[in-house]
Amino acid sequence: MKQKVYQFSAGPSALHPSVLTDTAHAAVDYQTSGLSIMEMSHRSTQVEILFQETTELAKGLLDVPDSYHILWLQGGATLQFAMVPMNFMKEGQVADFADTGAWSYKAILEAQKFGNVNVVCSSRDSTYHFIPKTSNQNDESKYFHITSNNTIYGTQYKVFPEVNNPNGFLVSDMSSDIFSRKIDVSKFGLIYAGAQKNMGPAGVTMVIIRDDILDRINQTIPTYLDYRTHIEKKSLFNTPPVLAVYAVNRTLEWLNGLGGVEAIESINEKKAGLLYSEIERNTLFTSPITEEDRSMMNIPFVFTEDRNEADFLSFCENRGLMTLKGHRSVGGFRASIYNAMPIEGVEALVSAMKEYESING
Ligand SMILES: *Cc1c(COP(=O)(O)O)cnc(C)c1O
Repeated sequence: MKQKVYQFSAGPSALHPSVLTDTAHAAVDYQTSGLSIMEMSHRSTQVEILFQETTELAKGLLDVPDSYHILWLQGGATLQFAMVPMNFMKEGQVADFADTGAWSYKAILEAQKFGNVNVVCSSRDSTYHFIPKTSNQNDESKYFHITSNNTIYGTQYKVFPEVNNPNGFLVSDMSSDIFSRKIDVSKFGLIYAGAQKNMGPAGVTMVIIRDDILDRINQTIPTYLDYRTHIEKKSLFNTPPVLAVYAVNRTLEWLNGLGGVEAIESINEKKAGLLYSEIERNTLFTSPITEEDRSMMNIPFVFTEDRNEADFLSFCENRGLMTLKGHRSVGGFRASIYNAMPIEGVEALVSAMKEYESING
């Protein structure tokens, strides 16, 4: 039998096997129509239904209040770094940003092109190994932008900050932890997430946006980049990435069948708990991350002393444990254990760490 392979990549990341099978079928023959979903008009009833269904699934899973819209856009989370300030900030205006990782920082650089960025807190000088708890918000701030989970360094907000300006709102990049744990959507004005970490393949980005902030969009911006365009056209303004949306649909359906976000959250807690305990216990490894801020999704770990990292990586690869190399800016190792990573994958990694210790410890 072929060895079971587990993919620990930070993104694009593992998808559930049933999602892959369903998507493969849809790519050849969508719902026995004789057409590939990729050949179908986005003006067809089937595609309209697909978008509606996927939106309803997302709303149900995240308990999204009726006052919010869900959009399926392109351009990744990266385009949202620009689209949020373009819509909600003008020259001379200010927005608050928490600098808690490489992605937060990229969002800051992009927003600076449209207005004044007030960096309310930063852990940049200490390689982002914790999430600062204080913040110096500006009273006039249009919105406060955070990154809920720091994919590269492995920190995660456990409690979301309050927004001081009563007219402002909280914005979060949730690319790497959306649908992994329960969140109170009503605390946010806008949430965005690229699909390829926890929701599907690359090519589609989900935006959840509160209705009342739409009348603050007061600038002449390109039609595609105006959130109202996509609300009005139900995410079918131009030719959408239907195959990617289909895979998202299957992923959300799988999650629903599992018992929803609450169910996956308790599985994710177990998975992360297993791995963090082993990192603590194993004499060869340690976590560089402040305990209270540790991510359930991306778990970096390093050798306690100078050792050959490539050797451990190939040891893992021989056991079917792939893509465990840490981000180039951090080194060491990183296990990304998103929703689709089964607990068996984490158990296999923990066994490999134990075995490596018994040989090299
Ligand atoms: C991966 C990632 C991004 C970049 O997403 P793209 O879809 O490639 O633009 C942005 N933010 C976070 C938190 C990420 O994990």
